[in-house]
Amino acid sequence: MKNFYHLRNILSLVISRVKKQEFLVYFKKMTLVNIEEGCVTFGVISEFMKGNLEVKFTQILLEAAQTEFPGVTEVKIIVDSEIDNPSNSDVIDCMEFFKESTKKRPNLKSASDKAPSVWKVWMKNKSFKYTLENFVVGPDNQLGHSACTAIAKNPGKAYNPLYLYGDVWLGKTHLLQATWNQVKKKDKDLNIVYTTGDKFLNEYVNCVKKRTVEKLRQKFLEADVLIIDDVQFLENKKQTQAELYNIFNMLYEADKQIILSGDRAPRELTELEPRLRSRFEWGITIDIGKPDFETRLAIIQEKARTKEFLLPQEVAEFIAANVTENVREIEGILNQLIIEYDLEGVPPTLEKVARKLKKLSITDDLLGATKTSPQMKIKSYEDLIDIVSEHFGIEKEGILWENRKKEFMIPRQVAMYLLKKKMRYTYERIGNIFSWRNHASVLYSCNKLEQVIKKDKDLLYEINVIRDRIGL
Ligand code: ADP
Ligand code: MG
Repeated sequence: MKNFYHLRNILSLVISRVKKQEFLVYFKKMTLVNIEEGCVTFGVISEFMKGNLEVKFTQILLEAAQTEFPGVTEVKIIVDSEIDNPSNSDVIDCMEFFKESTKKRPNLKSASDKAPSVWKVWMKNKSFKYTLENFVVGPDNQLGHSACTAIAKNPGKAYNPLYLYGDVWLGKTHLLQATWNQVKKKDKDLNIVYTTGDKFLNEYVNCVKKRTVEKLRQKFLEADVLIIDDVQFLENKKQTQAELYNIFNMLYEADKQIILSGDRAPRELTELEPRLRSRFEWGITIDIGKPDFETRLAIIQEKARTKEFLLPQEVAEFIAANVTENVREIEGILNQLIIEYDLEGVPPTLEKVARKLKKLSITDDLLGATKTSPQMKIKSYEDLIDIVSEHFGIEKEGILWENRKKEFMIPRQVAMYLLKKKMRYTYERIGNIFSWRNHASVLYSCNKLEQVIKKDKDLLYEINVIRDRIGL
């Protein structure tokens, strides 16, 4: 169902850019099949439709998809065999959608006469790049931001290599590209090579086929700053890894700056050659954590500001308190609010946003009885530990510090488990919180608890009570 909403947003943007006649001829039934690794795949009804869209609208679809999912670099169109299945609720009939969306636009004679203002804002945003200034700094990403700032001031001198890691949508690409921009701003002549793990892989494979590996090598060796985003895509690719290993060594020895990002810590990239993994750890590795409440709130406000959209404070707080999973949801919701405001002219209210979150299955019925005081979720790991210790009636310190007494062990495991499974903290980060335990011991505790609750239904019940209390 989520794809349905995203597709609606994308199509709204497409409608505002193409002529009515063209839209009605070329856009029939459509689905958004998936979004994976920077590629959005749309489904259409036939090869004929697919061919037409590919020829005429790839660029427009790509640009619209990038508004909905920043970071997208590619769109694909496929024939979706499920599109005519009446139970498929993700299908949009573009003609119906066109009618519906143009009807709601009071001042719009025809879609192509006048683009809605959101489109204008969007066009402006396209040239609006990721910068270190518009990255919202909070306790969970502060280190990453400072390291990038230091590197941008002095590439090759501060930390080398820098390896940033964390879940998707936490801002790694933003930081990497912002560093790129900052370095470029400071010194236009520096040669910065920016690629991603999968692009590097493709490029390498192609060069091997065409016997032009030497050229590729040359290009990379001329870099003053080499940035590779998402290195996890190089897992299991031995030859490509060997090539990167050589490039890495040459650049490193020449004091050239190397910046990398991945979805896991280097040591967790088990399908990467050990020698490459250890190189990645040579400089500084920094974990980007999930933003806490305050940071999420600031990100929402920053995003609204750059989109020139006035978002009521209570609505911003409500989204920040409830959309805890990732920033991507925040961005998607904000885009929807803007589009709806543009189409209907109704500013977002708390009730409306709560209904939207519920529809997207992000929350249950959040407004509950009071309607004005949405249930707040926990904001940080500290809140979680407070609630766990309160629930079990023990001292917080007993959970946090090394203490082998049994009465502390289970609550500690519960806290670790919830941080990992529900708040998506990395094992390392959890280890740091719990008196600097190592990653393996946290992993062990989480696995252990998982085993225990398979049998111990009482404990499972306790955990569910805690989860209810904190809304996880
Ligand atoms: P990742 O590369 O970690 O998957 P991205 O850098 O693509 O994440 O971030 C996804 C979106 O969220 C981008 O639009 C980015 O600007 C935004 N974002 C993430 N974290 C922040 C932050 N701290 N401040 C501002 N925007 C952020
Ligand atoms: Mg990324």
